[in-house]
Amino acid sequence: MVTLDSVRAVHLPVSEESSTVTHPFLDLAPLSAGRFAAIEDRVARLLGTGQDVVIMQGEALLPLEGAIRAAAGPGTVALNVVTGPYGQTFGNWLRDCGATVHDLSVPFHTAVSAERIRQAFTEHPEIDFVSLVHAEAATGNTNPVAEIGEVVRAHGALFYLDAVASVGAEPVLPDAWGVDLCVIGAQKAMGGPAGVSAVSVSERAWARMAANPGAPRRSYLSLLDWKERWIDGGRKALLHAPAQLEMLALEACVERIEAEGLGTVMARHASAAAATRAGALALGGGLEPYVYEAEDAAPVATTLRAPSDVDASELVARALESDPALPLAAGGGALAAEMVRVNHYGPDATRGAVQGCLAALGAALAEKGLKTDLEAARRAVEDAWDRPAGPDLSEA
Ligand SMILES: *Cc1c(COP(=O)(O)O)cnc(C)c1O
Repeated sequence: MVTLDSVRAVHLPVSEESSTVTHPFLDLAPLSAGRFAAIEDRVARLLGTGQDVVIMQGEALLPLEGAIRAAAGPGTVALNVVTGPYGQTFGNWLRDCGATVHDLSVPFHTAVSAERIRQAFTEHPEIDFVSLVHAEAATGNTNPVAEIGEVVRAHGALFYLDAVASVGAEPVLPDAWGVDLCVIGAQKAMGGPAGVSAVSVSERAWARMAANPGAPRRSYLSLLDWKERWIDGGRKALLHAPAQLEMLALEACVERIEAEGLGTVMARHASAAAATRAGALALGGGLEPYVYEAEDAAPVATTLRAPSDVDASELVARALESDPALPLAAGGGALAAEMVRVNHYGPDATRGAVQGCLAALGAALAEKGLKTDLEAARRAVEDAWDRPAGPDLSEA
């Protein structure tokens, strides 16, 4: 257990002449290879995977980009599923690598179906790589990865999954779903730091990378460097000094999830999503769930559509004036005018956060002369929160 005291216990002695004051984040001993490997094993357990797990020393975009550049090249025919802004980014990297890319875009208010993936393989049987985002915090949708994985496996394509926004909020099972490259980050539902991330890599994926002359090597982006110099060497020698603050924070956040129980953490997120959706519908004022069907809505965050004559970013700014700590944001880029994001993840997957967000949004809408029912919203949040949550129980 990493406590502040155990962190302090490793600080270097401070000389009496020195004016340096000890600080829990400073004067840390270097993180050992053994500790690093143990944290990797813990992340692997969280994902229920027997595949290699590589922890990357950067925000999740590092393994997301590194895995695409390692696995894709001019010979690759990729099916890139676009259900939000990250899918667009992946398509650009794939084209950059020289891959032939078939983009499959679905409107951001819905999810992609396994049937659409099946159709894409029928139209382009040469597809040998599929990139998919599991849940998109930016659009609030989640995709049926288990069903899609069956289709991808049946065609033998390599399956790349961005599970940054789903891990901790809903099941992420790379082995059961046949995911070859599963990228996670700690900063959403895991309630951890943003500066460290991980990817699970199947044997097939390692083989594809090893055969790719364009795969990054001797590079910060390189997964193969970690395979050849870290994993194949028995995880004895690290490639460089690890970011120890982020590693300790990652260890602490996995520990906290283990202590609460992954199932309980996921149930909290499912409750928060169901409660936000129900609360927004009961609130009125023209606020509506952005994702049409509840089953397509991500447990990690709930997106709402602002009334047509209200600017979403102004509405959010007004709501945040009442409480700047609320996990509210407007949509990114072109969505800023129409989308409100309730980021009820990690420590904000609570009744209090959901109630606070809806109350603040309701008050801001009422100021604009729109008719809202704060009490109905409050009751709807409580009712939805207490209903058994989870994908299989929500209709019961
Ligand atoms: C949040 C998120 C990431 C990580 O990006 P940041 O914006 O840097 O947090 C990657 N993929 C998805 C799907 C995400 O939701």
